[in-house]
Amino acid sequence: SPTILWLRRDLRLSDHPALRAACDAGGPVIPVFIHDEQVAALGAAPKWRLGLALEYLAGSLADKGSRLVLRRGDALTVLRGLIEETGARFVCWTRAYDPDAIARDSAVKAALKEDGIEARSFGGHLLFEPWTVETKQGGVYKVYTPFWNAVKGRDVAAPLATPGTIPAPDRWPASDVLGDWRLGAAMNRGADVVRPHVQLGEGGAQSRLGVFMAHKVADYDKLRDIMAEDGTSALSENLAQGEISPHQCWHAGLRAREEGKKGAETFLKELAWREFAYHLTYHTPRILSGNWREEWDAFPWNQDETVAVTRWKQGRTGVEMIDAAMREMYVTGRMHNRGRMIVASFLTKHLLTHWRVGQKWFEDCLIDWDPASNAMGWQWAAGSGPDASPYFRVFNPATQLDKFDPDRRYVRRWIAEGQGTPPATATSYFAAVPRRWGLSPDQPYPAPVVALDEGRKKALAAYENRSF
Ligand code: FAD
Repeated sequence: SPTILWLRRDLRLSDHPALRAACDAGGPVIPVFIHDEQVAALGAAPKWRLGLALEYLAGSLADKGSRLVLRRGDALTVLRGLIEETGARFVCWTRAYDPDAIARDSAVKAALKEDGIEARSFGGHLLFEPWTVETKQGGVYKVYTPFWNAVKGRDVAAPLATPGTIPAPDRWPASDVLGDWRLGAAMNRGADVVRPHVQLGEGGAQSRLGVFMAHKVADYDKLRDIMAEDGTSALSENLAQGEISPHQCWHAGLRAREEGKKGAETFLKELAWREFAYHLTYHTPRILSGNWREEWDAFPWNQDETVAVTRWKQGRTGVEMIDAAMREMYVTGRMHNRGRMIVASFLTKHLLTHWRVGQKWFEDCLIDWDPASNAMGWQWAAGSGPDASPYFRVFNPATQLDKFDPDRRYVRRWIAEGQGTPPATATSYFAAVPRRWGLSPDQPYPAPVVALDEGRKKALAAYENRSF
């Protein structure tokens, strides 16, 4: 009898334990992607990017004589419908770790079992299942370094090969048409602006990993913070859709370390930050939507769309480092990690604005949006997270600029104003923004929304006067 492979954030064919199990089950495999409430709730850029990933995956499956069946609705209802249509007796999928997905998946599993259907979930999204990592006292790691020490020596399963064939059913169940889902509807700049910056699918991900290991990983520890350098792997975009597995990245990192490439250890540590984000999300899901340190609920964050917040979103704060990074995100769907830390510090400290406002904007703009890493990153910057930069540590965008963009290449790449012949990247921002923002490169560069030392003083005063 057929097996239904329910695909979610695991849009690849290689190193895919659930796909392997489906193929090993012996019958035909019916890969399905369900447009459910969770998909509907995605931000504009991640939803648009998902559409590209599905299109690519449908092509990869077709190359193997298989298909991607698309259905819309509540996951359990859709799966039950497919079971009825196809006579499937086995449903499998790759685990997810955010609380909504866990609630949905547990309910689906229980209901299918009650129907007499075998329902099994598999690993593949994480290197270390969150429940397998605990402190000596049996608790959750709240600080990264001990987490790293606990996992760094563990065996990580070697990646599985792509199945040679994916058995197809005699008759395929009907599928929605991807275009009808209009996953890019809220993305006003998708095809023209962001698309050239996307490296799509399993093929794109593997070539990124190959280039990184051949040319970049050796100096990764030195170059990863220099904002104008292309010194990082850029794999977050692919990891977010599951177009590559963390195991594939980890094993490549191990090989590079064995070859004596110095930056490899740092790369492994960064992959472990992603794991740490999921460890926190799994054990303390409140990190996704509220202050991890609950005393911060009493902090007087601004939560409104003030003029300063709008200008932060638009990359028009008048602070070059902030604006360059915000424009980079708007145009490419990505932002350098250093930029993410600095703009998040600026919003939550200089502008005293709740990190959730920034978290939400990132969720709308990032093609590598990941619920766990985004929440952890914001709470790290705001000071409300477990392993956080303390609130009184206020990044100074001007000194950060001197340190991480000493020759101003990054800033010039993104800020057109004041440059006689700005590069295409800088002008592309003005072509990308909605007309109602009323921006043009001919306008003078704005005056700062807040003087840097004044913003810093205000942030520190609010911190001193806090009630906890
Ligand atoms: P590399 O430097 O090549 O690192 C390799 C991989 O390690 C990354 O692809 C990523 O999976 C992981 N990694 C690296 N740094 C971190 C980190 N600090 N936290 C968690 N994982 C990490 N990352 C996302 O993937 N999605 C997000 O939505 C996201 N939001 C963020 C928001 C804020 C405020 C901050 C400060 C960080 C955020 N990050 C997020 C983490 C980090 O900025 C990105 O993972 C990184 O910039 C991706 O670039 P890269 O793939 O070239 O990383």
